[in-house]
Amino acid sequence: MKSIRALTFDLDNTLWETDVSILGAEDVMAAHLRSLTPAAWMADFSLETFRAVRKQIVEERPDIAHNLTVVRRETLVRWFENQGATRSVAEDLAGEGFRVFYEERQKVNPYPGTVETLEILSKDYPLGAITNGNADLMAMPLGQYFQFSLQSQHFPKPKPDPAMFEEALKRLGVEPHECLHIGDDIEHDVIGAKQLGMKAVWFNTHARIPEEEVPADHTITKLQELIGILKQPG
Ligand SMILES: [Mg+2]
Repeated sequence: MKSIRALTFDLDNTLWETDVSILGAEDVMAAHLRSLTPAAWMADFSLETFRAVRKQIVEERPDIAHNLTVVRRETLVRWFENQGATRSVAEDLAGEGFRVFYEERQKVNPYPGTVETLEILSKDYPLGAITNGNADLMAMPLGQYFQFSLQSQHFPKPKPDPAMFEEALKRLGVEPHECLHIGDDIEHDVIGAKQLGMKAVWFNTHARIPEEEVPADHTITKLQELIGILKQPG
């Protein structure tokens, strides 16, 4: 892919397994909140009950649905209000819960080969990141290989909307066809990039059989495969 001059990467489930880090962070958050509140307030707290409240919040506030930080905070506020806390106490606890969650959520384990691959690629290409999540890439060791990381919470709409891709292209100083986007989500990453005229690699993280046709230029199951793909003619 000789025409490629820059690369953009999705983060969650492309560079690391997200569920593991989120679940771990939720456990630490719950334990911390238990230490701060009357026992009854957290007695029913579980993944399921927390997600049920979150679903309510997202349904009531579609305008904040793409901002995972605000959604998580509002979910915690509602949780504690439901337990009888005042708005101000609920907000303090939500802020404290989010702080602990966010710190833990950044402790990710890159998939095997990720660090080595990014190190090699970053010598030949500028790399950017585009995430619909709230991973703080530039604060992680992996951030050293990237020029920037865009989070959907700072944009009007998340991927597959073109806004984040367009900002990345602008910062990288390349035309859409000169940029290759790599991501695990067919709609957000592959279709999002392709509809702007970018090239796209589908990272089929779990080597699953897709139900739909995937309009990617290439499909990979290991990030290392990118190195060979980029050397191919065309
Ligand atoms: Mg992803």
